[in-house]
Amino acid sequence: MHKIDMELVEMTLDVMKYAIDRISSTKLKIGKPKKAEELKALVGDTITDKGVGGEYAFSLWKKYLMKANVPIDHPRHLAFVPASPTRAAIMFDLVTSASSIHGAYWMEGAGGIFCENEAMKWIVSLTGLPDGAFGVFTSGGTAANLSAIVTAREYWRQNDAFKREKGLIITSNGAHSSIKAMAKVADVDIILVNSEERLTGEDLEETIASLTEEQRKRLFAIVATGGTTNAGIIDDLEGVGKVCETEKLWFHVDAAYGGGALAADSVRHLFNGIEKADSITIDPHKWMFSPYDCGAVIYKEPELAKQAHSQEGSYLDIFKDEGAHGFNPTDYQIQLTRRVRGLPLWFSLATHGTDRYKEAVERGIELALIAGKMITKSPHVELVRDPSLSCVLYRRIGWKPEDYTHWTYENHKKGFALITPTKWKNGDNYETVSRFCFINPDTTEKDIEDILDSMV
Ligand SMILES: *Cc1c(COP(=O)(O)O)cnc(C)c1O
Repeated sequence: MHKIDMELVEMTLDVMKYAIDRISSTKLKIGKPKKAEELKALVGDTITDKGVGGEYAFSLWKKYLMKANVPIDHPRHLAFVPASPTRAAIMFDLVTSASSIHGAYWMEGAGGIFCENEAMKWIVSLTGLPDGAFGVFTSGGTAANLSAIVTAREYWRQNDAFKREKGLIITSNGAHSSIKAMAKVADVDIILVNSEERLTGEDLEETIASLTEEQRKRLFAIVATGGTTNAGIIDDLEGVGKVCETEKLWFHVDAAYGGGALAADSVRHLFNGIEKADSITIDPHKWMFSPYDCGAVIYKEPELAKQAHSQEGSYLDIFKDEGAHGFNPTDYQIQLTRRVRGLPLWFSLATHGTDRYKEAVERGIELALIAGKMITKSPHVELVRDPSLSCVLYRRIGWKPEDYTHWTYENHKKGFALITPTKWKNGDNYETVSRFCFINPDTTEKDIEDILDSMV
Protein backbone atom coordinates (compact mmCIF):
# COMPACT_ATOMS: atom_id res chain seq x y z
CA MET A 1 0.00 0.00 0.00
CA HIS A 2 2.78 2.41 0.82
CA LYS A 3 5.04 1.80 -2.13
CA ILE A 4 4.76 4.84 -4.36
CA ASP A 5 5.01 3.73 -7.93
CA MET A 6 4.37 5.68 -11.09
CA GLU A 7 1.12 3.90 -11.73
CA LEU A 8 -0.20 5.11 -8.41
CA VAL A 9 0.89 8.67 -9.09
CA GLU A 10 -0.90 8.60 -12.43
CA MET A 11 -3.99 7.11 -10.86
CA THR A 12 -3.98 9.86 -8.25
CA LEU A 13 -3.77 12.52 -10.93
CA ASP A 14 -6.55 10.86 -12.93
CA VAL A 15 -8.82 10.76 -9.92
CA MET A 16 -8.09 14.37 -9.03
CA LYS A 17 -8.74 15.43 -12.60
CA TYR A 18 -12.03 13.56 -12.61
CA ALA A 19 -13.09 15.20 -9.34
CA ILE A 20 -12.17 18.67 -10.60
CA ASP A 21 -13.91 18.11 -13.96
CA ARG A 22 -17.01 16.84 -12.22
CA ILE A 23 -17.41 19.79 -9.89
CA SER A 24 -16.51 22.49 -12.40
CA SER A 25 -18.52 21.22 -15.35
CA THR A 26 -21.43 23.37 -16.43
CA LYS A 27 -22.78 20.77 -18.81
CA LEU A 28 -23.68 17.91 -16.50
CA LYS A 29 -26.09 15.34 -17.83
CA ILE A 30 -28.80 13.85 -15.66
CA GLY A 31 -27.91 10.16 -15.71
CA LYS A 32 -30.35 7.26 -15.82
CA PRO A 33 -30.35 3.98 -13.91
CA LYS A 34 -29.92 0.68 -15.77
CA LYS A 35 -30.82 -2.83 -14.71
CA ALA A 36 -28.07 -4.75 -12.89
CA GLU A 37 -27.97 -7.35 -15.70
CA GLU A 38 -27.40 -4.62 -18.26
CA LEU A 39 -24.58 -3.11 -16.23
CA LYS A 40 -23.04 -6.53 -15.72
CA ALA A 41 -23.13 -7.13 -19.48
CA LEU A 42 -21.37 -3.82 -20.04
CA VAL A 43 -18.59 -4.13 -17.47
CA GLY A 44 -18.13 -7.87 -16.99
CA ASP A 45 -16.27 -9.27 -13.99
CA THR A 46 -14.40 -6.64 -12.04
CA ILE A 47 -13.64 -8.51 -8.83
CA THR A 48 -11.17 -11.21 -9.77
CA ASP A 49 -8.18 -13.03 -8.24
CA LYS A 50 -5.65 -10.64 -9.67
CA GLY A 51 -7.82 -7.57 -10.11
CA VAL A 52 -8.53 -5.84 -13.41
CA GLY A 53 -6.27 -2.87 -12.67
CA GLY A 54 -7.18 0.61 -11.53
CA GLU A 55 -6.94 2.20 -14.92
CA TYR A 56 -9.39 -0.25 -16.46
CA ALA A 57 -11.79 -0.17 -13.52
CA PHE A 58 -11.78 3.61 -13.59
CA SER A 59 -12.47 3.61 -17.32
CA LEU A 60 -15.50 1.39 -16.69
CA TRP A 61 -16.67 3.81 -14.05
CA LYS A 62 -16.41 6.78 -16.37
CA LYS A 63 -17.80 5.04 -19.44
CA TYR A 64 -20.75 3.14 -17.96
CA LEU A 65 -21.20 3.13 -14.23
CA MET A 66 -21.15 6.84 -13.42
CA LYS A 67 -23.72 7.39 -16.16
CA ALA A 68 -26.08 4.95 -14.48
CA ASN A 69 -26.42 7.30 -11.51
CA VAL A 70 -28.71 10.28 -11.25
CA PRO A 71 -26.48 12.95 -9.67
CA ILE A 72 -28.73 14.98 -7.51
CA ASP A 73 -26.97 18.33 -7.86
CA HIS A 74 -28.10 19.09 -11.42
CA PRO A 75 -29.87 22.49 -11.54
CA ARG A 76 -32.93 20.90 -13.17
CA HIS A 77 -33.07 18.03 -10.68
CA LEU A 78 -35.97 19.27 -8.57
CA ALA A 79 -37.24 15.89 -7.35
CA PHE A 80 -37.11 14.54 -3.78
CA VAL A 81 -34.85 16.85 -1.80
CA PRO A 82 -31.98 17.56 -4.19
CA ALA A 83 -28.48 18.51 -3.11
CA SER A 84 -25.94 21.09 -4.04
CA PRO A 85 -22.68 20.57 -2.19
CA THR A 86 -20.20 23.42 -2.49
CA ARG A 87 -16.93 22.80 -4.29
CA ALA A 88 -15.06 23.66 -1.12
CA ALA A 89 -16.98 20.99 0.77
CA ILE A 90 -16.46 18.37 -1.93
CA MET A 91 -12.74 19.00 -2.13
CA PHE A 92 -12.49 18.78 1.65
CA ASP A 93 -14.40 15.53 1.54
CA LEU A 94 -11.39 14.19 -0.36
CA VAL A 95 -9.13 15.63 2.34
CA THR A 96 -11.30 13.96 4.99
CA SER A 97 -10.87 10.57 3.32
CA ALA A 98 -7.15 11.05 2.81
CA SER A 99 -6.64 11.93 6.47
CA SER A 100 -7.95 8.62 7.91
CA ILE A 101 -9.49 10.14 10.99
CA HIS A 102 -11.46 7.92 13.36
CA GLY A 103 -14.15 10.35 14.44
CA ALA A 104 -15.60 8.51 17.44
CA TYR A 105 -13.27 9.81 20.14
CA TRP A 106 -11.47 13.07 20.76
CA MET A 107 -8.36 11.07 21.58
CA GLU A 108 -8.03 10.02 17.95
CA GLY A 109 -9.82 12.78 16.10
CA ALA A 110 -9.29 15.95 18.15
CA GLY A 111 -8.35 18.14 15.19
CA GLY A 112 -11.22 16.96 13.01
CA ILE A 113 -13.77 16.95 15.81
CA PHE A 114 -12.70 20.46 16.80
CA CYS A 115 -13.58 21.63 13.28
CA GLU A 116 -16.89 19.75 13.31
CA ASN A 117 -17.76 21.39 16.61
CA GLU A 118 -17.00 24.86 15.26
CA ALA A 119 -19.47 24.21 12.43
CA MET A 120 -21.92 22.70 14.93
CA LYS A 121 -21.78 25.84 17.10
CA TRP A 122 -23.07 27.84 14.14
CA ILE A 123 -25.89 25.37 13.48
CA VAL A 124 -26.87 25.34 17.16
CA SER A 125 -26.83 29.16 17.20
CA LEU A 126 -29.46 29.15 14.43
CA THR A 127 -31.87 27.17 16.60
CA GLY A 128 -31.94 29.60 19.53
CA LEU A 129 -31.60 26.70 21.99
CA PRO A 130 -30.30 27.77 25.42
CA ASP A 131 -26.62 27.66 26.46
CA GLY A 132 -25.37 24.13 26.92
CA ALA A 133 -27.25 22.78 23.91
CA PHE A 134 -25.03 20.95 21.49
CA GLY A 135 -25.07 18.37 18.75
CA VAL A 136 -23.18 15.85 16.72
CA PHE A 137 -22.99 14.95 13.04
CA THR A 138 -24.65 11.71 11.98
CA SER A 139 -24.97 9.74 8.76
CA GLY A 140 -28.25 11.51 8.04
CA GLY A 141 -31.66 12.47 9.29
CA THR A 142 -32.70 8.87 9.88
CA ALA A 143 -29.81 8.21 12.27
CA ALA A 144 -30.36 11.61 13.89
CA ASN A 145 -34.07 10.88 14.47
CA LEU A 146 -33.26 7.45 15.87
CA SER A 147 -30.59 8.85 18.19
CA ALA A 148 -33.07 11.44 19.48
CA ILE A 149 -35.94 8.97 19.95
CA VAL A 150 -33.70 6.57 21.87
CA THR A 151 -32.40 9.41 24.05
CA ALA A 152 -35.97 10.50 24.82
CA ARG A 153 -37.10 6.96 25.55
CA GLU A 154 -34.14 6.17 27.82
CA TYR A 155 -34.67 9.43 29.71
CA TRP A 156 -38.36 8.59 30.17
CA ARG A 157 -37.51 5.12 31.41
CA GLN A 158 -35.24 6.50 34.10
CA ASN A 159 -38.52 6.86 35.97
CA ASP A 160 -39.28 3.52 37.63
CA ALA A 161 -42.96 3.90 36.79
CA PHE A 162 -42.15 3.49 33.09
CA LYS A 163 -39.27 1.00 33.22
CA ARG A 164 -41.23 -1.85 31.72
CA GLU A 165 -43.54 0.18 29.49
CA LYS A 166 -43.46 0.21 25.74
CA GLY A 167 -43.21 3.85 24.73
CA LEU A 168 -45.58 5.77 22.48
CA ILE A 169 -44.96 8.86 20.39
CA ILE A 170 -47.28 11.18 18.48
CA THR A 171 -46.44 12.84 15.17
CA SER A 172 -48.42 13.91 12.12
CA ASN A 173 -49.11 12.36 8.73
CA GLY A 174 -46.77 14.92 7.24
CA ALA A 175 -43.83 13.51 9.21
CA HIS A 176 -41.07 11.83 7.25
CA SER A 177 -41.19 8.05 6.77
CA SER A 178 -38.02 7.69 8.83
CA ILE A 179 -39.95 8.62 11.98
CA LYS A 180 -42.19 5.59 11.51
CA ALA A 181 -39.25 3.41 10.50
CA MET A 182 -37.14 4.47 13.49
CA ALA A 183 -40.05 4.04 15.93
CA LYS A 184 -40.04 0.44 14.73
CA VAL A 185 -36.31 0.12 15.33
CA ALA A 186 -36.70 1.54 18.83
CA ASP A 187 -39.80 -0.63 19.40
CA VAL A 188 -41.97 2.36 20.13
CA ASP A 189 -45.63 2.73 19.12
CA ILE A 190 -46.67 5.69 17.05
CA ILE A 191 -49.91 7.61 16.61
CA LEU A 192 -50.34 9.84 13.58
CA VAL A 193 -52.40 13.01 13.74
CA ASN A 194 -54.32 12.76 10.50
CA SER A 195 -53.22 15.96 8.81
CA GLU A 196 -50.64 16.81 6.21
CA GLU A 197 -51.21 20.46 6.93
CA ARG A 198 -49.53 22.27 9.80
CA LEU A 199 -49.76 20.35 13.08
CA THR A 200 -50.96 22.79 15.75
CA GLY A 201 -50.90 22.77 19.52
CA GLU A 202 -54.70 22.34 19.48
CA ASP A 203 -54.49 19.30 17.16
CA LEU A 204 -52.02 17.79 19.56
CA GLU A 205 -54.11 18.56 22.66
CA GLU A 206 -57.10 16.93 20.99
CA THR A 207 -55.12 13.83 20.12
CA ILE A 208 -53.71 13.54 23.63
CA ALA A 209 -57.21 13.97 25.07
CA SER A 210 -58.42 11.07 22.91
CA LEU A 211 -55.83 8.62 24.27
CA THR A 212 -56.83 5.85 26.64
CA GLU A 213 -55.35 6.02 30.12
CA GLU A 214 -53.02 3.18 29.22
CA GLN A 215 -51.82 5.02 26.07
CA ARG A 216 -51.38 8.29 27.94
CA LYS A 217 -49.14 6.52 30.43
CA ARG A 218 -46.94 5.26 27.60
CA LEU A 219 -46.74 8.60 25.74
CA PHE A 220 -43.27 10.09 26.13
CA ALA A 221 -42.49 12.21 23.07
CA ILE A 222 -43.91 14.35 20.29
CA VAL A 223 -42.25 14.73 16.90
CA ALA A 224 -43.02 17.94 15.02
CA THR A 225 -41.66 18.67 11.56
CA GLY A 226 -39.72 21.80 10.65
CA GLY A 227 -40.40 21.66 6.93
CA THR A 228 -42.27 18.60 5.70
CA THR A 229 -40.42 16.81 2.96
CA ASN A 230 -43.41 16.75 0.65
CA ALA A 231 -44.63 20.33 0.95
CA GLY A 232 -42.22 22.34 3.14
CA ILE A 233 -44.83 22.85 5.87
CA ILE A 234 -43.54 23.91 9.28
CA ASP A 235 -45.64 22.71 12.20
CA ASP A 236 -46.79 25.14 14.89
CA LEU A 237 -43.63 24.65 16.91
CA GLU A 238 -44.60 27.28 19.47
CA GLY A 239 -47.96 25.59 20.14
CA VAL A 240 -46.62 22.04 20.08
CA GLY A 241 -43.72 23.08 22.33
CA LYS A 242 -46.13 24.54 24.88
CA VAL A 243 -48.21 21.36 25.00
CA CYS A 244 -45.03 19.33 25.50
CA GLU A 245 -44.04 21.61 28.36
CA THR A 246 -47.43 21.26 30.07
CA GLU A 247 -47.70 17.52 29.48
CA LYS A 248 -44.03 16.88 30.32
CA LEU A 249 -43.28 15.25 26.99
CA TRP A 250 -40.04 15.19 25.03
CA PHE A 251 -40.27 17.64 22.13
CA HIS A 252 -38.37 16.58 19.01
CA VAL A 253 -38.30 18.72 15.89
CA ASP A 254 -37.40 16.97 12.66
CA ALA A 255 -35.98 19.74 10.49
CA ALA A 256 -33.83 17.44 8.34
CA TYR A 257 -34.87 19.23 5.17
CA GLY A 258 -36.08 22.60 6.49
CA GLY A 259 -33.31 23.21 9.03
CA GLY A 260 -31.15 25.09 6.54
CA ALA A 261 -33.89 27.72 6.36
CA LEU A 262 -33.18 28.66 9.98
CA ALA A 263 -30.42 30.74 8.41
CA ALA A 264 -32.89 32.61 6.17
CA ASP A 265 -34.21 35.83 7.72
CA SER A 266 -37.27 35.84 5.43
CA VAL A 267 -38.71 32.65 6.98
CA ARG A 268 -36.97 32.34 10.34
CA HIS A 269 -40.10 33.46 12.23
CA LEU A 270 -41.97 30.38 10.94
CA PHE A 271 -39.71 28.27 13.16
CA ASN A 272 -40.50 30.20 16.35
CA GLY A 273 -40.83 27.72 19.18
CA ILE A 274 -37.98 25.51 17.93
CA GLU A 275 -35.93 26.92 20.82
CA LYS A 276 -38.21 24.93 23.16
CA ALA A 277 -37.16 21.61 21.59
CA ASP A 278 -35.41 18.88 23.54
CA SER A 279 -33.83 17.63 20.33
CA ILE A 280 -33.61 18.73 16.70
CA THR A 281 -32.61 16.96 13.49
CA ILE A 282 -30.99 18.96 10.69
CA ASP A 283 -29.41 17.50 7.54
CA PRO A 284 -26.48 19.55 6.28
CA HIS A 285 -26.49 17.24 3.23
CA LYS A 286 -29.88 18.65 2.30
CA TRP A 287 -29.92 22.44 2.64
CA MET A 288 -26.49 23.25 4.03
CA PHE A 289 -24.62 22.32 0.89
CA SER A 290 -22.63 19.39 2.31
CA PRO A 291 -21.75 16.27 0.36
CA TYR A 292 -23.37 12.97 1.42
CA ASP A 293 -23.62 11.89 4.00
CA CYS A 294 -24.03 14.46 6.74
CA GLY A 295 -26.91 14.78 9.16
CA ALA A 296 -26.97 16.30 12.62
CA VAL A 297 -28.78 15.80 15.91
CA ILE A 298 -28.84 18.56 18.49
CA TYR A 299 -29.88 18.23 22.14
CA LYS A 300 -30.95 20.83 24.64
CA GLU A 301 -29.23 18.68 27.28
CA PRO A 302 -26.48 16.65 25.61
CA GLU A 303 -25.86 14.87 28.91
CA LEU A 304 -29.13 12.95 28.41
CA ALA A 305 -27.91 11.72 25.03
CA LYS A 306 -24.69 10.60 26.66
CA GLN A 307 -26.62 8.58 29.23
CA ALA A 308 -28.45 6.85 26.39
CA HIS A 309 -25.65 6.32 23.88
CA SER A 310 -22.27 6.22 25.62
CA GLN A 311 -20.61 2.89 24.89
CA GLU A 312 -18.72 2.47 28.17
CA GLY A 313 -15.47 3.84 26.87
CA SER A 314 -13.78 3.24 30.21
CA TYR A 315 -10.63 1.97 28.49
CA LEU A 316 -10.18 5.54 27.32
CA ASP A 317 -9.37 6.70 30.83
CA ILE A 318 -5.94 5.17 30.42
CA PHE A 319 -4.79 8.15 28.38
CA LYS A 320 -2.59 10.38 30.46
CA ASP A 321 -2.30 12.94 27.72
CA GLU A 322 -4.41 15.97 28.67
CA GLY A 323 -5.15 16.56 25.01
CA ALA A 324 -6.88 13.19 24.76
CA HIS A 325 -9.82 14.34 26.84
CA GLY A 326 -12.58 16.15 25.05
CA PHE A 327 -15.83 15.75 23.14
CA ASN A 328 -16.51 12.16 22.05
CA PRO A 329 -19.06 12.14 19.19
CA THR A 330 -19.83 8.48 19.78
CA ASP A 331 -21.47 9.39 23.11
CA TYR A 332 -24.32 11.32 21.52
CA GLN A 333 -25.64 9.13 18.68
CA ILE A 334 -25.95 5.48 17.68
CA GLN A 335 -22.67 5.00 15.82
CA LEU A 336 -19.19 4.17 17.11
CA THR A 337 -16.57 4.31 14.34
CA ARG A 338 -17.45 7.32 12.26
CA ARG A 339 -16.15 9.55 9.54
CA VAL A 340 -15.64 13.16 10.63
CA ARG A 341 -18.44 13.96 8.26
CA GLY A 342 -18.91 17.50 9.50
CA LEU A 343 -15.37 18.38 8.37
CA PRO A 344 -16.29 19.24 4.75
CA LEU A 345 -19.02 21.56 6.07
CA TRP A 346 -16.54 23.25 8.39
CA PHE A 347 -14.15 23.95 5.51
CA SER A 348 -16.92 25.26 3.31
CA LEU A 349 -18.28 27.53 6.06
CA ALA A 350 -14.78 28.77 6.82
CA THR A 351 -14.17 29.40 3.12
CA HIS A 352 -17.39 31.22 2.27
CA GLY A 353 -18.65 32.62 5.55
CA THR A 354 -22.13 32.14 6.93
CA ASP A 355 -23.59 35.10 4.96
CA ARG A 356 -23.10 33.18 1.71
CA TYR A 357 -25.03 30.27 3.23
CA LYS A 358 -27.85 32.63 4.16
CA GLU A 359 -27.94 33.97 0.60
CA ALA A 360 -27.85 30.53 -0.99
CA VAL A 361 -30.77 29.30 1.16
CA GLU A 362 -32.73 32.50 0.48
CA ARG A 363 -32.23 31.88 -3.23
CA GLY A 364 -33.96 28.49 -2.96
CA ILE A 365 -36.92 30.15 -1.21
CA GLU A 366 -36.96 32.90 -3.83
CA LEU A 367 -36.94 30.36 -6.66
CA ALA A 368 -40.01 28.69 -5.13
CA LEU A 369 -41.81 32.06 -5.03
CA ILE A 370 -40.78 32.81 -8.62
CA ALA A 371 -42.02 29.39 -9.73
CA GLY A 372 -45.28 30.07 -7.87
CA LYS A 373 -45.77 33.33 -9.80
CA MET A 374 -45.00 31.69 -13.14
CA ILE A 375 -47.49 28.92 -12.39
CA THR A 376 -50.18 31.42 -11.43
CA LYS A 377 -49.63 33.26 -14.73
CA SER A 378 -49.63 30.17 -16.95
CA PRO A 379 -53.03 28.93 -18.12
CA HIS A 380 -52.11 25.21 -18.27
CA VAL A 381 -50.95 24.83 -14.65
CA GLU A 382 -52.15 25.95 -11.21
CA LEU A 383 -50.85 25.95 -7.66
CA VAL A 384 -52.16 23.25 -5.34
CA ARG A 385 -51.07 25.35 -2.34
CA ASP A 386 -48.85 28.38 -1.90
CA PRO A 387 -45.12 27.61 -2.03
CA SER A 388 -43.70 26.79 1.39
CA LEU A 389 -39.97 27.04 2.08
CA SER A 390 -38.56 25.81 -1.24
CA CYS A 391 -41.36 23.36 -2.13
CA VAL A 392 -43.95 24.03 -4.80
CA LEU A 393 -46.94 21.73 -5.41
CA TYR A 394 -48.86 22.39 -8.59
CA ARG A 395 -51.10 20.59 -11.05
CA ARG A 396 -51.19 20.44 -14.82
CA ILE A 397 -54.86 21.09 -15.49
CA GLY A 398 -56.51 18.04 -17.01
CA TRP A 399 -53.68 15.57 -16.39
CA LYS A 400 -54.18 12.08 -15.01
CA PRO A 401 -51.54 10.35 -12.85
CA GLU A 402 -50.14 8.51 -15.89
CA ASP A 403 -49.63 11.83 -17.72
CA TYR A 404 -47.35 12.99 -14.92
CA THR A 405 -45.33 9.78 -14.91
CA HIS A 406 -45.00 9.89 -18.69
CA TRP A 407 -43.84 13.50 -18.58
CA THR A 408 -41.29 12.68 -15.85
CA TYR A 409 -40.04 9.74 -17.91
CA GLU A 410 -39.71 11.74 -21.15
CA ASN A 411 -37.84 14.63 -19.51
CA HIS A 412 -35.52 12.23 -17.74
CA LYS A 413 -34.90 10.19 -20.89
CA LYS A 414 -33.80 13.34 -22.71
CA GLY A 415 -31.44 14.19 -19.84
CA PHE A 416 -33.32 17.48 -19.57
CA ALA A 417 -34.79 17.43 -16.07
CA LEU A 418 -35.93 15.23 -13.22
CA ILE A 419 -39.19 16.28 -11.62
CA THR A 420 -41.21 13.50 -10.05
CA PRO A 421 -44.90 13.66 -9.16
CA THR A 422 -46.15 13.36 -5.62
CA LYS A 423 -49.51 12.88 -3.94
CA TRP A 424 -51.47 15.53 -2.11
CA LYS A 425 -54.63 15.10 -0.11
CA ASN A 426 -57.55 16.69 -1.89
CA GLY A 427 -60.63 16.23 0.26
CA ASP A 428 -60.74 12.51 1.02
CA ASN A 429 -58.67 11.52 -1.98
CA TYR A 430 -55.03 11.71 -2.80
CA GLU A 431 -54.38 13.62 -6.00
CA THR A 432 -51.27 13.11 -8.10
CA VAL A 433 -49.57 16.48 -8.58
CA SER A 434 -46.20 17.82 -9.68
CA ARG A 435 -43.64 19.06 -7.16
CA PHE A 436 -40.53 21.22 -7.21
CA CYS A 437 -38.00 21.31 -4.41
CA PHE A 438 -35.31 23.96 -4.86
CA ILE A 439 -31.93 23.60 -3.18
CA ASN A 440 -29.38 24.40 -5.88
CA PRO A 441 -28.86 28.19 -6.11
CA ASP A 442 -27.65 27.69 -9.69
CA THR A 443 -31.14 26.74 -10.87
CA THR A 444 -32.26 29.61 -13.14
CA GLU A 445 -35.62 31.18 -13.88
CA LYS A 446 -35.14 29.99 -17.45
CA ASP A 447 -34.85 26.41 -16.13
CA ILE A 448 -38.24 26.76 -14.43
CA GLU A 449 -39.78 28.35 -17.51
CA ASP A 450 -38.49 25.57 -19.75
CA ILE A 451 -39.82 22.91 -17.39
CA LEU A 452 -43.28 24.50 -17.23
CA ASP A 453 -43.26 24.91 -21.03
CA SER A 454 -42.58 21.19 -21.41
CA MET A 455 -46.00 20.59 -19.78
CA VAL A 456 -48.05 22.55 -22.33
C1 LIG B 1 -34.83 13.52 4.38
C2 LIG B 1 -35.53 13.57 5.65
C3 LIG B 1 -35.27 12.62 6.65
C4 LIG B 1 -34.32 11.47 6.46
O1 LIG B 1 -33.03 11.95 6.35
P1 LIG B 1 -31.87 11.05 5.69
O2 LIG B 1 -30.72 11.98 5.71
O3 LIG B 1 -32.35 10.70 4.32
O4 LIG B 1 -31.68 9.87 6.54
C5 LIG B 1 -35.94 12.75 7.85
N1 LIG B 1 -36.82 13.73 8.05
C6 LIG B 1 -37.11 14.67 7.11
C7 LIG B 1 -38.11 15.74 7.42
C8 LIG B 1 -36.48 14.61 5.87
O5 LIG B 1 -36.77 15.52 4.94
